[in-house]
Amino acid sequence: MSSKQKKLNRPDTAAPGETPGILFVVSSPSGGGKGTLVQRVLKQGNLSYSVSYTTRAPRNGEVEGREYFFVTPEEFDAMVTAGEFLEWAHVHGKLYGTSREQVFRDVREGRDIILEVDVQGAKSVRELVTDSVSIFILPPSIEILRQRLVARGTDSPEELELRLKNAPAELKHYKEFDYVIINDEVERAAGQLSCIIEAERAGRARQEPAIKQVVESFS
Ligand code: 5GP
Repeated sequence: MSSKQKKLNRPDTAAPGETPGILFVVSSPSGGGKGTLVQRVLKQGNLSYSVSYTTRAPRNGEVEGREYFFVTPEEFDAMVTAGEFLEWAHVHGKLYGTSREQVFRDVREGRDIILEVDVQGAKSVRELVTDSVSIFILPPSIEILRQRLVARGTDSPEELELRLKNAPAELKHYKEFDYVIINDEVERAAGQLSCIIEAERAGRARQEPAIKQVVESFS
């Protein structure tokens, strides 16, 4: 596996007095359940989702522009050359990349955005956007991970084995994340993800412009 990205500075923050959006980065091994948890919090609204680009084929039920933008390796390479990715990486033999434009636009316009990326992507984003918030979703056991991947029924036997083979190496990165959610029970885990998002939104440093306005109105 290798990871590359064009070195970029943090997206220019919002207009004076406005609070920039928060960048939430969620990672887990394939089948760890991050997709389900992210869908739950997206339903609560007020959060956008970064739709990645990938060279892997769409799975049954996946829609262009909703789960991913599906591109050829040549199209992906052209986007890399043009500097269109905030980060990109080889994952399970395919290419995946995050649109720099979408992420920066949302953050600049004050919208919080959630990225689902692998551990290499999370590392790149943490380095580029130092006040991003990273969350690792930990499957409770390898047996449950296997069961979930089998139940999902979207991967060929070879892909499934590759994803299980890569899981231990991915898990070792949990220490690099700000938060870890053990995904043993979906309701509880989704609740925890939602609480993390709300707690980060309530952070004093992030709210400083808005707080200042309120405090000044008292004087
Ligand atoms: P899947 O093929 O199962 O949808 O995703 C495989 C892995 O690629 C998952 O760990 C997923 O989080 C990761 N991934 C999806 N989009 C991106 C991306 O834009 N960048 C990186 N680095 N990883 C991604």
